[in-house]
Amino acid sequence: MALQKTSRRDFIRNASLGIGALAIGPALSQLAMAKPGKKLGIALVGLGGYAGGQLAPALQKTQNCYLAGIVTGTPSKAVDWAKKYNIPQENIYNYQNFDEIAKNKAIDIVYVVLPVALHKEYTIRAAQAGKHVICEKPMAVNAKDCEDMIAACKKSNRLLSIGYRLHFEPHNIEIMRLGQKQVFGKVKSIDTGNGFTYGGDPNAWRLKKALAGGGGLMDMGVYAIQASRYTLGQEPIAVKATQEKTRPELFKEVDETVFWELKFPGGQKVTGKSSYNHDWGYVKAEAERGKFQLEPAYGYGGIEGFTSNGPLKFPQIVQQAAQMDDFANCVNLNKQSRVPGEEGWKDMRVIDAIYRSLDSGNWEKIG
Ligand code: NAD
Repeated sequence: MALQKTSRRDFIRNASLGIGALAIGPALSQLAMAKPGKKLGIALVGLGGYAGGQLAPALQKTQNCYLAGIVTGTPSKAVDWAKKYNIPQENIYNYQNFDEIAKNKAIDIVYVVLPVALHKEYTIRAAQAGKHVICEKPMAVNAKDCEDMIAACKKSNRLLSIGYRLHFEPHNIEIMRLGQKQVFGKVKSIDTGNGFTYGGDPNAWRLKKALAGGGGLMDMGVYAIQASRYTLGQEPIAVKATQEKTRPELFKEVDETVFWELKFPGGQKVTGKSSYNHDWGYVKAEAERGKFQLEPAYGYGGIEGFTSNGPLKFPQIVQQAAQMDDFANCVNLNKQSRVPGEEGWKDMRVIDAIYRSLDSGNWEKIG
């Protein structure tokens, strides 16, 4: 296949023909062919940078869902958001009266956009209130909490999805296809990295272990771990990790830069790194008959990709709109999301093992 000539039309056709396996899922075709169903109401819980900067604007572009409600502890935000997004008073909650959302028929989906340590509590409370749930990444502070969240959603018979927007991003979907379908032969090695240079508030929750669970590894590394898993379409079995700290006064409680090597059943060489002190964002794969890569790989836009055959040419999309529309479609069809809770749990098992390896200095089994 002449990859450098792959057009958007080819991409959509390939996707609708089911070219793609396991984690690849039904891609854009499914969005285009979404059955007309009820337009579902989403309530955002936590009106911080991601909810305000990305999710609420994306919800102005969605077809299958809309911004119906908000949950906030800050009364002035409630006033501002109600005005800006035309949210009726009866769809506005705070953290004390959140459980009353159970009675609100206008809210179908609760989207948890809180500091990581609060994901578990609000996912479980939302499911118990009878709502389907999207929970932001990383799913929780450890894999055990992920299991509890999955169990609670199953018990309430509600769908759970993780905010893995890149599973809806065309370049990343293509990387999944190239790797999993062995378009350039078997993948021999992968190198990934994700990070940014932290220059924010030294008192922010991201630097507090109790709220964040960890540092750059939890926040940024999760994308790099995801990318190696979805490029190979396999699950890693062991990991060895090291770390570096150049600003210990800032990163007192959480990791700054972490390096790891993952062992996969196929014996591929897979390395990765995460950081709050370096600007990284790439995935590079070498296969038997060629190479492919994305850089920048993980941003909200501006994704660029190359293969041995030339550049990848796919549209930049509003990833969050595609992600939320797909989940609303899944709810309407009562079918599992391509990024269910189990997907977040798999990454947290890797992250747990990386932290164990940092402590022990040894290879650690995953799971
Ligand atoms: P943020 O600090 O900007 O917002 C967090 C919100 O939680 C704030 O509105 C804050 O008031 C509220 N909050 C409620 N209880 C709190 C408490 N006890 N301590 C601190 N804040 C509290 O953070 P953010 O960047 O919006 O991140 C929120 C979540 O979204 C995180 O899980 C993060 O990993 C995730 N996120 C995902 C992406 C993505 O691309 N998928 C991007 C950014 C953030």
